[in-house]
Amino acid sequence: YAAKAKRNTAVIFDEASFAQRLEQNRLAAALAFAADRDEFVVYYQQKVDLLTSRHLGFEALVRWRHPQLGILPPGRFLPLMEGHLIQAMTRCIVNTVGRDLKAWKAAGLRAGSVAINLPEALLVSQDGYDLIAAAVKANGLDWRDFAIEVTEDVFLNRGAEQIAETISRFRKHGVSVSLDDFGTGFASLVHLRDFPFDELKIDRSFVAEIGKDIRSEQIIRAIIDLARNLGKRCVAEGIEEEAQRGFLMTAGCDIGQGYLFAKPEPASAAVERLAQNPLAVRGKSGRITQGP
Ligand code: C2E
Ligand code: MG
Ligand code: MG
Ligand code: MG
Repeated sequence: YAAKAKRNTAVIFDEASFAQRLEQNRLAAALAFAADRDEFVVYYQQKVDLLTSRHLGFEALVRWRHPQLGILPPGRFLPLMEGHLIQAMTRCIVNTVGRDLKAWKAAGLRAGSVAINLPEALLVSQDGYDLIAAAVKANGLDWRDFAIEVTEDVFLNRGAEQIAETISRFRKHGVSVSLDDFGTGFASLVHLRDFPFDELKIDRSFVAEIGKDIRSEQIIRAIIDLARNLGKRCVAEGIEEEAQRGFLMTAGCDIGQGYLFAKPEPASAAVERLAQNPLAVRGKSGRITQGP
C-alpha cells in the first residue's frame, strides 16, 4: 500500500508533465492514422530573388490537419514520428506536390522547382529517390521540378556514404540539393568539401540576429563567402525585416525566404501569389532577369 501511495503521490506531484505526456501519447496514436486518413497538408513557401523579390521556387512544408486540434506545425508532430510513419508522410507530401505541379503546369503556371525536405531515413535507402521518381513519372514532370533539402544531421549517420550516393543520383537528373539549417548542426568543412550539393541555406537563427549581434553578422558573411568560393548558391531563411534583406544583399547573398516575402501557405494561396509574381528567369550569366 505504501508503495502504491507513493506512486500516486508522484503522479499527483507531477500532474502537469503527466498531462503533457498523455497528450503526446494521444497525438502519437492519432499520427499512426494521419497518412491513411489523408490528414497531411502541404504548405508552400516562396524562395525569392532578394534584389527584385521575384519568385524563384517553393519549399514544401508539411502541416497536419488534426481532426480536433486543426492545423499543426511540424514541430508538434515530427518529433513523435518514427521510421515507417515518416516514410508514409513523405509519400503523401511527394504525391501531393507532384499533383500540384501537374495542375500548375496545366494552368500555364511556372512554379520553378519545389523543394522537398527529405529525412535521412529516406536517403540511406533508395526510398526517397524512388518516391520522387514515381511522382515525376506519374505526373509527366521533369526531375528539375523537384529540389531536395537535407539537414547537416545526415553527416552523423553511419550511412553517410550511401546518402552521398543517393544525392549524386538526384543531381545527375538536375535536381538541386540544399544543405538546410546550415551552421546549426554537424557539418564540418570536410563534409562541405566532399559532399555533393548545390545550395547552402543559412539558418534563420543567424538571420534573426542581424542588427543585434555582430558575431552572428560576421558568421553570416563568412558563410556567404564560403558558399561563393565553393561555387554554391546561398539562401537565407527566416527573413522578416527589410533591414535583414539589406544586410544579406550587401553581404552577397541573393536568394531569400521569409515572412517579409511570403509565409508558408496552402496551394491555392501559393498559386495566386505565383500568378501575381511570376517566375524570375536566370540568364546564362546567372543574373536574374524579368520573367515573362
Ligand atoms: P526548415 O526546412 O528549415 O523550414 C523553415 C522553417 O522556418 C519553416 O517552419 C518555416 O515556416 C519557417 N519560416 C520561414 N520563414 C520564416 C520567417 O520569416 N520567420 C519565422 N519565424 N519562421 C519562418 P515549419 O514549417 O514549422 O517547419 C519546421 C521544420 O520542420 C522545417 O525546417 C523542417 O526541418 C521540418 N519540416 C517541415 N516540413 C517537412 C517535411 O515535409 N518533411 C520533413 N522531413 N521535415 C519537414
Ligand atoms: Mg527546409
Ligand atoms: Mg531551413
Ligand atoms: Mg531551419
